[in-house]
Amino acid sequence: MLCVTTLASGSGGNSLLVSGRGTHILIDAGISCRRITAALAQLGVDPMQLSAVLITHEHSDHICGLATMVKKLPFHIYASPGTARQLAYRIAIPPQRLHAVEPESTFTVGSLTCRAFPTSHDCAQSTGYTVELDGQRMALATDLGHVTAPVLKAVLGCQVVVLESNHDVDWLRSGTYPPYLQQRILGDRGHLCNEAGAELAVQAVQAGAHTVILAHLSQENNTPARALEVTRRRLLAAGVDPDRDVCVTVAPRTEPGPVWPVQKEGALC
Ligand SMILES: [Zn+2]
Ligand SMILES: [Zn+2]
Repeated sequence: MLCVTTLASGSGGNSLLVSGRGTHILIDAGISCRRITAALAQLGVDPMQLSAVLITHEHSDHICGLATMVKKLPFHIYASPGTARQLAYRIAIPPQRLHAVEPESTFTVGSLTCRAFPTSHDCAQSTGYTVELDGQRMALATDLGHVTAPVLKAVLGCQVVVLESNHDVDWLRSGTYPPYLQQRILGDRGHLCNEAGAELAVQAVQAGAHTVILAHLSQENNTPARALEVTRRRLLAAGVDPDRDVCVTVAPRTEPGPVWPVQKEGALC
């Protein structure tokens, strides 16, 4: 059984655990090594058993725990060629432990089949990831300015999807962020707003997703209640009952969330 657990989510740091048939991998290591190892211990995972860390991009909220983790634990690191170059530049990673993987190519880590897909974000070469085990498939798509065809293709057909729901556009526009930062976030290579995240969620659910985890919420320009409300409203408008047909949840900002099983047939939480 494939399982997904967010360890932390938001601009303060991102990390997510995917486990299946004895293989454990993280996607991103954007909180301290201490917090990651504590979270893994809490989930009953020996950090030494971590096979790999997949990195979406080099922003510090996705890699800030990596340098310490590399020194203490023997896992391998996978990233797009552009992100891998940025990592090699910033962190002392033994070359044999750093694997550059082309977006849209498949690679295997233990029991798990992984695939990176390109995202549109203001960094070298960002990606999201899908992870699959025996037809159970999850996708993580955060830190993207807009939903491109490769993102949609990756997300559709996954049973558990972790999707960015970063900000409320009106709150951002009327908030305290300076204009240049607002433009960066709202831009094509920025972050996905609640409405766009909700639209992606609707499409994922219509294609068979049973669990939607809203992630990477802005602390300033969003709240879990607001993100949930927007997604629930869009699902209802599309004829999906968010209390009966699907499980919609928000990834906690600073602590591990529940363990979400990925099930091939429709499942409810
Ligand atoms: Zn970023
Ligand atoms: Zn980020």
